[in-house]
Amino acid sequence: MAIFSALDGRRRPLVRMGHPVLRQRAEEVPPSRFGTRALRDLGRDLVRTMHEENGAGLAAPQVAAPLRVFAYQVPAEKGQSTVPPTVLVNPVLTLEGEASELGWEGCLSIPGLRGLVPRHPRLVVRAFDVEGAPVEFAAEGFHARVIQHEFDHLDGVLFLDRMRDMRALYYEDEWEEFALKKDLPIEE
Ligand SMILES: [Zn+2]
Repeated sequence: MAIFSALDGRRRPLVRMGHPVLRQRAEEVPPSRFGTRALRDLGRDLVRTMHEENGAGLAAPQVAAPLRVFAYQVPAEKGQSTVPPTVLVNPVLTLEGEASELGWEGCLSIPGLRGLVPRHPRLVVRAFDVEGAPVEFAAEGFHARVIQHEFDHLDGVLFLDRMRDMRALYYEDEWEEFALKKDLPIEE
C-alpha cells in the first residue's frame, strides 16, 4: 500500500456544509487514473490537509473533488492500534452487526459541532490504493467508525443525517462541559 507522510502534499481549502459537492454522489476513479500524478497528489493533499486540520479523516468531496477517495488515520489515543495515514480509492464496505454502536463524531465540513452517531461495530473494506493495488481488511471500533463517516461523504451523507436524536448535538465547548463527562445518553 502506498505510504503517505503528513509533510508531503499541500493543504487544500475545505468546503463546508451547504456546498453542493457535499450532497452529491462522488464518481468512481477510473482505472486509467490509478498511478497518475493527479491521483497521487489528491491522496497526498488529503493527508496533509487532514493533518493540518487535526482531523481523523478527510474525503475528497470535502476539498471539492467529487471522487470516491478518502484519507483517514487512527491516532493512538483512541484505545486501539494506530493506523497511519491511509488513502482508499473506490472503497466498498461490507457492514457487520447492527448500526447501533453510539459514538461522538465531528466533521471538518461542519466545524465546531459534535454529535452522537450510531454506526456498525465492524466492517470489511475492499478498495484500491492510489497506485491501483487492491486492498482488503477488516476494521472495528473507532477504525470502523471513521471509515463509515468518510465513506458516507462519498454518497453525499453527513453525520447529522445519521443522528437519531438531535438533543445529542453540541457545540464543542458545551460538549466538553456537559456531554463528554457524562455517560452516553441512552436511546429508546
Ligand atoms: Zn466529515
